[in-house]
Amino acid sequence: MMNQTINIKVVSIFPEMFSSLTSFGVIRKAIENSIVDFEAINLRDYTNDKHKVTDKPGYGGNNGMVMLADPFFQFYDDYCSKYEKPYVVMTSPQGRKFDNNVSKTLASKKNIVFFCGRYEGPDERVMSIVDDEISIGDFVVTGGELPAMIMIDSLLRFIPGVVGDKNSVINDSFYNGLLDYPHYTKPAELRNLKVPEVLLSGNHSNIEKYRKKESFLRTILKRPDLFLKRDLQKEDKKIIVEIIKELYESAQ
Ligand code: SAM
Repeated sequence: MMNQTINIKVVSIFPEMFSSLTSFGVIRKAIENSIVDFEAINLRDYTNDKHKVTDKPGYGGNNGMVMLADPFFQFYDDYCSKYEKPYVVMTSPQGRKFDNNVSKTLASKKNIVFFCGRYEGPDERVMSIVDDEISIGDFVVTGGELPAMIMIDSLLRFIPGVVGDKNSVINDSFYNGLLDYPHYTKPAELRNLKVPEVLLSGNHSNIEKYRKKESFLRTILKRPDLFLKRDLQKEDKKIIVEIIKELYESAQ
């Protein structure tokens, strides 16, 4: 877990979209409690013409509209004149893939700015002020707002105080290179489906063992690629042997 508050600005032609990120749940509370300083900037505020134009047809013909570089530069100069130089992220399908490690790295920054593209994306020259180009996956969406929201939502979970229970972040999928164990709540039986006995036992050491085993099993079955990256410890090997034994016994 990181140990500081974080300043995040997003630059977009649709800043209103970010109210869906900032108006609900733990993120709304984190903003209210000043754990996160968040601002959605309208790129149009950094234009100099009457119509606040932010895009023009691309050079070379036969392609769509391209976002003007100058409003991004104007924003950047204005930001740097007021605050410390930010870590600038360009949302882009061409960037490195976003994952839990990238998220953690972003959470360690003090000032972050996300640039949200639209149309064909920003003029390539904007990349001269960008520190990191990040993609949410090998597909294209219409704008950088949703990708930025996904990244911000995820990175904020690493900021102390955003998620009430620190353990819930630590036990979540990917944090320790494993998938999360299964969760149950009341009632203990529903439509003939029972909550595993051990979770009702109150025996914390057995509950911990069960959860660890389930995490291993799920990761092996659903994400073997993740499991194979794991540096197996003595304790891990014991759990694997137990899983194999159980599978063997249930097959008899
Ligand atoms: N012409 C661009 C290309 O093919 O690389 C795609 C432009 S896309 C229609 C418009 C904007 O949406 C991009 O500039 C970027 O900000 C955002 N975007 C689209 N897909 C994305 C993804 N997978 N990850 C992050 N941002 C994405």
